[in-house]
Amino acid sequence: MLSRLRTLEVVEVDIDDAVGLVTATEVTAPEAVPPFDNTAVDGFAVRASEIQDVPTELRVVATVAAGVPPEVPLGPRECARIMTGAVIPGDADSVVMVEDTEMVGPDTVRVLAAGEIGRHVRRRGDDLGAGDVALAAGTVLRPAHVGLLATVGRPTVTVFRRPVVGVVSTGDELVGPEVPLQPGQIRDSNRQMLLALCRAAGFVAVDLGLVPDDEARIEAALRSAADTCDAVVTSGGVSMGDFDYVKAVLGRIGEMEWMQVAIKPAKPLAFGTIGGTPVFGLPGNPVSSLVSFELFARPGLNTMAGYPDPHPRRLQAMVPEGLDRRSDGKTHFVRVLLDSTDEGLVAHTSGGQGSHQLAASAGADGLAVLRDGPGVGPGSRVDVIPLR
Ligand code: AMP
Ligand code: MG
Repeated sequence: MLSRLRTLEVVEVDIDDAVGLVTATEVTAPEAVPPFDNTAVDGFAVRASEIQDVPTELRVVATVAAGVPPEVPLGPRECARIMTGAVIPGDADSVVMVEDTEMVGPDTVRVLAAGEIGRHVRRRGDDLGAGDVALAAGTVLRPAHVGLLATVGRPTVTVFRRPVVGVVSTGDELVGPEVPLQPGQIRDSNRQMLLALCRAAGFVAVDLGLVPDDEARIEAALRSAADTCDAVVTSGGVSMGDFDYVKAVLGRIGEMEWMQVAIKPAKPLAFGTIGGTPVFGLPGNPVSSLVSFELFARPGLNTMAGYPDPHPRRLQAMVPEGLDRRSDGKTHFVRVLLDSTDEGLVAHTSGGQGSHQLAASAGADGLAVLRDGPGVGPGSRVDVIPLR
């Protein structure tokens, strides 16, 4: 599936709007960082050779603040008071921190600790040299990267565009939160959940509403969604029921890629393209929707967003009580809570594992991966796909 998805266009965005986006080109530092030798501490800029026998006294002839280049020359046995981040005066080669000194006159400092060339000096370019690569292409931008872009004087960055994802719910039985439930009706939970998942992932999420189980209405909704969005995520209508039209419509008006995967929850799934726009047809059971978003839609959308490795990450956790399951030919994704302990991550089931039981899954920290078979015994280690 992922090989069918192409990355979106490359755009230039303000760094203020760049978190979560992926760099399309490398970013170099036009100038050295730091741009000049400067002091890491508040203290006195000195010549180390003059403070070998301590205690010893030096004359304080200037004060150098951060942001102002020093102009005073330092004569023999002279020093300058200097503040963190200030330029090291040309005649000095090291800094004595203020804690290792005491003032013994208005312009006389007693130095208590012996000096060493380069002590407390942050060298020009010791983080990045001029022309060095600050960010490789394919970097998923985090807040610290935004700081780094600012450091190298880049107000904008070249990234893959943020995917615009349309979300549609299908189902005659579904109603919104604003009306009383009639017999047989349930509330549409998936649309809001999928919109929230998309937004939290950094995509632009578009609410395309709730569509009844009507083939023509579903076709119209999918066509218009595919026209206006980079990708479409639907919920419901992809299993074997008489009114499961999403799969049928996708097969008829689009190119269907695959449908059944041997996993639980989330077995019925449809993936296809309409006019080149990918459509992720997720199952209607809320937990199945959640899990299939994580396993299929998110990696697909991340691929479009330029992620070099869009696959879910896996952690390892120990299960003190074990996790039971029955053999059914499928891989199970058990919702678990994770605790950090001195021995590493520990996983416990989050509660009822029915695919309709969103209450028991909503707070889960991860999906424990259980291969086909009888499950795992107490104390076993399992792979966990983190959910947050
Ligand atoms: P479906 O995938 O359409 O066969 O639906 C499977 C189950 O999920 C049924 O019990 C539906 O009522 C339920 N369901 C479908 N869509 C939603 C939704 N948007 N919110 C909550 N439950 C849903
Ligand atoms: Mg349905």
